[in-house]
Amino acid sequence: MRSKYVAPAKDAKQFHCIHCGAYAHQDWNPLHLHTETMRATSFSGSSCAHCGNITFWYGERIIVPSEAPVEPAHPDLPEALKPDFDEARGIVARSPRAAAALLRVLIQKLMPDPGQKGENLNEDIRNLVAAGLPASVQQALDHCRVVGNNAVHPGEIDLNDTPEIAHQLFAMVNFIVDDRITRPREIAALYESSARASLGGKQASSRSIKQLGGVGSRTSARPSLDCHRSRTHSLPATASDREHRAL
Ligand SMILES: [Zn+2]
Repeated sequence: MRSKYVAPAKDAKQFHCIHCGAYAHQDWNPLHLHTETMRATSFSGSSCAHCGNITFWYGERIIVPSEAPVEPAHPDLPEALKPDFDEARGIVARSPRAAAALLRVLIQKLMPDPGQKGENLNEDIRNLVAAGLPASVQQALDHCRVVGNNAVHPGEIDLNDTPEIAHQLFAMVNFIVDDRITRPREIAALYESSARASLGGKQASSRSIKQLGGVGSRTSARPSLDCHRSRTHSLPATASDREHRAL
């Protein structure tokens, strides 16, 4: 699971960098106008300890880069959808309604990746909830009019959209990716590695029995087999428990 997103804020010592996405320490410096004398301005710069890039502020507001302080796309968001996410990030400060429209389209385009048709969002989200997506996500999507009776057609500008709705949509895209793409993949990898370890252990144990031979040797080999058996039993069970929780 990813850590909680901490949005950049004026004079904050640490936040998620708008350039590299890392949660990193920030060094702040006021910007002066260098004329005959040094004149103070309302501009300042925060320098990221992780990537070294500078974010420029005017008062409380980020001026450069132009993206609003929105969490970056989840690394597992399909590559084809990243430009849409970044475009929405780039415009949300000036036009949250346009960003929300882009994100609704993005959510629909995302549906085939967790195995849905991508034709009827209501149906796709219902199926994802049946498969383990928290029902609260469906309620949040309903609130943001992605699904439900008052859903806005993807791509349409809805004049009732607020900046809060646009920001929630960014978070929901990343949550769906994390919950329905990343976690099942991690669980599958965990199960595969434990199954491989189990197979390797069995082969090693049968080799050790053959090498040792005899009744006494079989007795001495037994504890390691028992130990192995309990290990192979517990690991897949843990994986399946997690899978059960996730699916
Ligand atoms: Zn950075």
